[in-house]
Parts: sequence; structure tokens; C-alpha cells
Amino acid sequence: MTSAFVARDGSRWMPEYLDSINPAMCIGCGRCFKVCSREVMHPYGMDEAGEMLGVCDGEDDFNGELSRVIMVIDYPGRCIGCGACARVCPKNCQTHVAVDHRAVHGS
Ligand code: SF4
Ligand code: SF4
Repeated sequence: MTSAFVARDGSRWMPEYLDSINPAMCIGCGRCFKVCSREVMHPYGMDEAGEMLGVCDGEDDFNGELSRVIMVIDYPGRCIGCGACARVCPKNCQTHVAVDHRAVHGS
């Protein structure tokens, strides 16, 4: 599958799609969420045992079970590979790939 495109000035543009976020390193700062124009990821709450509690709006403490917040890629197909999220991440915990593996493998 070809994943390179051409920008308006004729230069070659290779998207770098957000592929994963390391949950052990992510501090849930929300910077990537704020700069992404495509709603690819959302902050999720986790309890002390590491179980996901659901999307975290910053106010719900999930009946006191909220232990930490991490960013989760819940809509990977929306990513256009702009790379903005990588530039603002203070933990360098994201992985980007040039090819959209989802499209290649049909998942
Ligand atoms: S690469 Fe761009 S579109 Fe994709 S998740 Fe990051 S900010 Fe959003
Ligand atoms: S910018 Fe990095 S550390 Fe902050 S929420 Fe996004 S992935 Fe996690």
C-alpha cells in the first residue's frame, strides 16, 4: 500500500500515523489530546489494579476508584499522521508508523 502523498508545493509528504501509546510511560497530561484535530485518542481513567474505568472528563472520580489517567487511542482510523501529538508529548511514549497497518491488514 502506498502511504506517501504530495503537498500543495509538490513536495512529498509521508504521514506518520499514531500506532500506540505506552500505558506505563504516559502521564495523561492531555497535551496530545488538545492538539489533535481528529479525536483519535481520549483520556481514560484507571483504578489501582490497572483496570480501565472509562473515558475521563476530568471531574468524575469514578466513585473514588480513579487512580491515574492515561491516553488511549480509541479511534485509530481517524489519524491522518500529522505528527502534532508526537511533538508535544513530554514523555516520548508514543509510537508512530509510516504505513497504516490497520488498512493493510483490514482491521
Ligand atoms: S498524528 Fe495528528 S491526527 Fe494522528 S493522532 Fe497525532 S495529532 Fe491526531
Ligand atoms: S502527551 Fe504523551 S504523556 Fe501526555 S497524555 Fe499524550 S501520550 Fe500521554
